[in-house]
Amino acid sequence: MSPSRRKIRLEFWTLRCEMRAMSSTDIPRRHFASDNYAGVCPEVWEALRAADAGHVPGYGDDPHTSAVQDAFRSLFETDCEVHFLFTGTAANSLAIASACEAYHAVICHAFSHIETDESNAPGFFAHGVKTLPINTPLGKLDPKSVESLFLNRRDIHASAPKVLSLTQSTELGTVYTPSELKDLSEMARSLRMSIHMDGARFANAVARLGCSPADLTWRSGVDVLCFGGTKNGMLATEAAVFFNKDLAHAFKRRCKQAGQLASKMRYHAAQWQGMLRSGRWLENAKHANDMAQRLRSQLSAIAGIQVLYPVEANAVFVRFPEGMAEALLEKGWRFYTDVGPGGARLMCSWNTSPEDLDQFASDAKLIQERAR
Ligand SMILES: *Cc1c(COP(=O)(O)O)cnc(C)c1O
Repeated sequence: MSPSRRKIRLEFWTLRCEMRAMSSTDIPRRHFASDNYAGVCPEVWEALRAADAGHVPGYGDDPHTSAVQDAFRSLFETDCEVHFLFTGTAANSLAIASACEAYHAVICHAFSHIETDESNAPGFFAHGVKTLPINTPLGKLDPKSVESLFLNRRDIHASAPKVLSLTQSTELGTVYTPSELKDLSEMARSLRMSIHMDGARFANAVARLGCSPADLTWRSGVDVLCFGGTKNGMLATEAAVFFNKDLAHAFKRRCKQAGQLASKMRYHAAQWQGMLRSGRWLENAKHANDMAQRLRSQLSAIAGIQVLYPVEANAVFVRFPEGMAEALLEKGWRFYTDVGPGGARLMCSWNTSPEDLDQFASDAKLIQERAR
């Protein structure tokens, strides 16, 4: 069968599973494909409703937006410039564009979102800029690899690395400790690079490490953080937090040009206000991380399932025994099998419940017993 025919068949099959999942009553409602499968948490809806009163100026010149920008400054214990965007892809790309000329390059991990999941957006918004990926273990870069890539070629014909992009927590569900971040940023700094942090799951790293957001960012040398709201339980908002304000020059203009400057900005602000004021952003992340720990221990107790990486945030990567992934998909479960170097990625969210995990693990166990 031709690859395109096979792809179409696979799509039909997936759709059939999906339809079956929707029509059956005993199929669970929650999935492990991504934390963006989960909905919006109540604190966010309440804050949106509260902001939904009266007329205020657009494009961020409103009291909600300035109040929440102040809330970011107290959360990070420093003066920082904060902008809100609709997607993490836009936040990453525009933050990178702010730090680069067209002949520059970004050193990143081979499995980073900017490298594998942004449809070349960094090169589009930061026109001309390319990524230089490194495939180091556990989704984490290390200073030696960064340095040797940088020093490999520095002549006029090569691209000039200008940004080191770190993902926290990483694409493989691990985290960088503050001291690892410091070592990386010192290395990058010595090579005159800026440090960008893709924090789509920054909250999960804070929850895991129990240190302050400041320790994981500017105190560890980070210049700009793209702080993810959506996967943490918000509706659609990401914050670009500039600790190095020089990089924020004309950022609002970049947002406008990219179609990312919300005219009703107060609704971005409200989502964050609801989360930051209640502390729910951290509770959500803690919960998702706890669920991942529980899932890891349930699955590692099943013969033939191999947990691939340390579970340090809200992702569990496993290798299922032959046929098990297909059987679980057939039962209506959703998870990805094409993230990172292989295996299946099981992502827990702010509202994943212990019952979801029990159900998933018991299905896996049943499949395993039947296969024997
Ligand atoms: C989800 C995600 C993003 C942002 O994705 P969007 O779909 O553009 O909002 C960025 N980085 C990482 C690591 C992610 O997982």
